Amino acid sequence: QDVVNKIAAGEIIVSPFHALKELIENAVDAGSTSLEILVKDGGLKLLQMTDNGCGINKDDLPILCERFTTSKLKAFEDLTSIGTYGFRGEALASISHIAHLAITTKTADSSCAWRAHYAGGHLAPAKAGQTSDPKACAGRQGTQIAVEDLFYNVPTRRRAFRSASEEYAKIADMVGKYAVHCKGVAFSCKKHGEAGAGLAVPANASVKDRIRMVYNSATANELIEIELQNDQYGFKTDGLVSNANHSSKKTTCLLFINHRAVDSSVIKKAVEQTYSTFLPKGGKPFFYLSLEIDPARVDVNVHPTKREVNFLNEEEIVEMICDEIRTRLGKVDT
Ligand code: ADP
Ligand code: MG
Repeated sequence: QDVVNKIAAGEIIVSPFHALKELIENAVDAGSTSLEILVKDGGLKLLQMTDNGCGINKDDLPILCERFTTSKLKAFEDLTSIGTYGFRGEALASISHIAHLAITTKTADSSCAWRAHYAGGHLAPAKAGQTSDPKACAGRQGTQIAVEDLFYNVPTRRRAFRSASEEYAKIADMVGKYAVHCKGVAFSCKKHGEAGAGLAVPANASVKDRIRMVYNSATANELIEIELQNDQYGFKTDGLVSNANHSSKKTTCLLFINHRAVDSSVIKKAVEQTYSTFLPKGGKPFFYLSLEIDPARVDVNVHPTKREVNFLNEEEIVEMICDEIRTRLGKVDT
């Protein structure tokens, strides 16, 4: 059973940035306005997230990393918080099977913080000889999650990683996307031991400023707003697009569906196609799109390693978005 859990976990969490994505989503769901991320050795040695959200009740700590049970901590109707992979209550459980997990957390009405360690889905002692019970400690409201030695017990997965800086780049990319999308939330992300700030976005930055900070200002200066709503297909979208992505040789695509970063090659191709008539030679599009779709129309039942999302009337919706981009671009002289 343990081997099965470990294999399943390794399929959900393929790279450090997948684990971090789950931690970010949890912290944002907890109402945090500040997320601080610390990374050691491309995330393999340490992925640490400190938030100032609602915290976790001490009574919930024993079952926090048990598969599927934790979803019950939240109202089940809260469909916007469906996890990226289409199932709930699996992220922390998975991580606890393939890493050393430590959580320090404090709710507003608790007089102290509580610290707990997990292994294989359950509470575990911090050190041999100690009990597994959560320990009282000092701390501010919010949660700190430390994921250490990711894949320590999955040697094949560990060997697949060659470069810490490559992994860090993927982590920074994921943090950057959420830093653009999550208005009102401050983000910082840095490598352990590094003097510089790494990536830093203050809570009060506008979306355009966020793009300016994370990507580059030339791109941000030429952003065009798009906004669209349609009741027939049950969606609305807003975003910022630019046909002058000066910083990259590739299309930069920030796509959020119901506030989760997702990939959609269908949308990406369609937008690139739309842009091809407007782009200066050699330029690449930049787009940030936040789509809200009736959750009942989104197919979240895709395979965990497949990070693509499907939704009903995809073709029609994508066409409407591209039309909107064409219209907006047509109105702007470049
Ligand atoms: P899910 O998010 O699908 O419920 P997770 O395994 O990602 O499953 O998280 C389990 C539960 O732990 C969450 O539902 C939430 O109640 C709690 N939780 C996790 N991270 C945080 C956090 N940073 N702040 C507050 N609660 C958290
Ligand atoms: Mg989660």
